[in-house]
Amino acid sequence: MIPARLIFDGKTKAYRICKLAHSYLRYMYAIPTISVSAINPLLYQKNKRMKIIKVLRSRLSKTRSYIATCKQKKELLQLLGDRHYFLAKEDDFLFSIRDLVEIFAGDLVARMYLVLEKIEDHITNGQCAICCNKGFICEYCSDSRVLYPFQVDHVIQCNKCSAAFHRKCYKEGSCPKCKRVEKRSNKNGDFSRNSNNNNNNNNNNNNNNNNNNKYYNDYNEMNYDDDEDNDEIDNKDGR
Ligand SMILES: [Zn+2]
Ligand SMILES: [Zn+2]
Ligand SMILES: [Zn+2]
Repeated sequence: MIPARLIFDGKTKAYRICKLAHSYLRYMYAIPTISVSAINPLLYQKNKRMKIIKVLRSRLSKTRSYIATCKQKKELLQLLGDRHYFLAKEDDFLFSIRDLVEIFAGDLVARMYLVLEKIEDHITNGQCAICCNKGFICEYCSDSRVLYPFQVDHVIQCNKCSAAFHRKCYKEGSCPKCKRVEKRSNKNGDFSRNSNNNNNNNNNNNNNNNNNNKYYNDYNEMNYDDDEDNDEIDNKDGR
C-alpha cells in the first residue's frame, strides 16, 4: 500500500516496493500521522466515505469533553478501541494508513458510526447524570428541549464560549452568553478602575484561562491515554 496513492487517488492497490520501505510502512501502518486536510483536502469532497468520516469525526470530537468528565470514561473510550485520536479537534484530524485502507476498502465508516451512536446515546439518554446535565438550552428561543453540540444537524456551537444553540435561531456575532460575559467583565473593569484595584481583572483573566485550560487538560489527558495505546499498537502492529 502506497500512502500517496491512498491520499491522492483513494486507491488501496498493493505495489511492489523495496524491503526498507516495506518495513517502514509496516511500522507506520496504525500510527495516525496523515493530515488529509493539509495534504489533499479535496479528498473530503471527492470521496463520499471521506466526506462521511469527516462529519463523523467532527461529531465524535464534540463528545470529547463529555467523555473526559464521565465516570464511565474508560468504558466509553473502550468503544473506540485503539482509535482514541478520533476524538481530536477538527483542526487536528489525523489518519493512519490503516484508517484510510479500512475507510476505502473496509467497513470503518459503518463501525465508527455505531460507536458514535452508542456514545451519543450514553450522553443523551438520561442514565448518566454527569453527561446528561452538560446539555444546553437555546438562549434565543428558550425551548425546554436540551441541546448537545454533537447534534450538528440542528445545533451550532459558539466559537468563543462553546455554548450551543439551534442552527435556525443562532445569529453570528450575537451570542447571548458571550454578550453576558462581556457585560460582566465591563462591569468588573469599571469596579477595578473605581477602586484602583486591578485584582478583579486579573481574576477574570485567570478564570477564563482556567476554563480554556479545562478543555485543554481534558484533551491532554486523553492524549496521554492515546500514547499508551500507541505503544500497544506499535507492539502488535502486524501488517
Ligand atoms: Zn457519562
Ligand atoms: Zn432556539
Ligand atoms: Zn458565545
